[in-house]
Amino acid sequence: MMKKENTRETDILYKGTRVKKIARTPETLPLYLTTAFNVDDLTDLKNRYKEQGYTYIRTRNPNRNALSELVTYLEKGQNSIVCSSGMAAISTTLLTTCHSGDHIIADHTLYGESIDLLEKLKTYDVSVTFVNITDLDEVEKAFTKHTVAVYTETISNPMINTIDIKKIAALTHEHQGQLIIDNTFATSYLLSPLAQGADIVVNSLTKFANGHSDVCLGSVTGSNEFIKKAYDLQVLLGTTAAPFDAWLCERGMRTMDLRVKKQSDNALELAKFLENSKFVKKVHYIGLVNHSQHQLAKKQFSNGYGGMLSFELPENEPLLDKFLNKLTFVHYAMTLGGYRTTVSHPATSSHYDMPRDERLKLGITDGLLRVSVGIENVNDLIEDFKNALTVYDV
Ligand code: PLP
Repeated sequence: MMKKENTRETDILYKGTRVKKIARTPETLPLYLTTAFNVDDLTDLKNRYKEQGYTYIRTRNPNRNALSELVTYLEKGQNSIVCSSGMAAISTTLLTTCHSGDHIIADHTLYGESIDLLEKLKTYDVSVTFVNITDLDEVEKAFTKHTVAVYTETISNPMINTIDIKKIAALTHEHQGQLIIDNTFATSYLLSPLAQGADIVVNSLTKFANGHSDVCLGSVTGSNEFIKKAYDLQVLLGTTAAPFDAWLCERGMRTMDLRVKKQSDNALELAKFLENSKFVKKVHYIGLVNHSQHQLAKKQFSNGYGGMLSFELPENEPLLDKFLNKLTFVHYAMTLGGYRTTVSHPATSSHYDMPRDERLKLGITDGLLRVSVGIENVNDLIEDFKNALTVYDV
């Protein structure tokens, strides 16, 4: 029989396995793929509960903790939780924030499933007013005495608009609400919503943060007080993330700044190329000097304007299919934020459920394509688009 090992909290990261001292201090945090941690005795268990030690996978795991500390540091918050998806982060946040009878103001161009979730909250007696968040008068008018939160995104999908965080935060705080911002498209490398006055930041780490298109994860960052409440609810909802995903994402985030810098630089070059193409009707990218929000973006963003852009092609489905088939480097895929460039067609994916006339009011035409720009050689990327665009030369 094996001798019982001392697994006290302070030892646990490196003492999980009986190994020589030299192997007990690895350069990277090992993957803790375990459902539970052995406990010495009743006193040890009590101490672990008191000191937030490791016991069971749903409550705490070293890889999840390491990722959460990294996210907290990068997002400039007090604390974070890491969740099993971006949607898990958003649902945990909203369920922590609002209760029956409360009211939320949300941007009408949010990620489609965030809108669906807010619609669902209405069935739990939470009212929601969707507004054009870039119109501060409209936002101001939407407040009621029951408003507890304003929910928006730093860069909207797929029209790539941004928001004046300081002004919206001031307005929200005047009405005693909390400003919740989804920072998925921008990332903490380009913009820190908390430093600009937001109260809570959510992220789909599935995207730019992880950057390798191989996990599904989310995070919530805010004050110690809020995160304590969100954590307690998360444990009950079971929205905690898998250790392997957390391990992969922690590794991915170590290069997030390098990737997002290159993605932003490539996106700007690609946007300039598309803007000059005779086949492209319009390009939406806040880094372009003639974009209506460029001055605001310049004030708020550091290090570039992000890897997301969209552009409009003629509304012709057969030609659009030919265009997509002719792309070689660039992949047509239902994700974003990876190291490889991907395109998606919002009218048949993220906004498929939206009635056509409503979709058109938001500017989402049948010819709109969204691009998540990767870290490829920018000349190769531009060549690929240039070559595929020749299908419109008819
Ligand atoms: N927020 C934004 C802006 C997104 O684009 C997405 C997904 O595409 C999500 C949240 C949801 O993230 P996940 O797919 O990780 O649940």
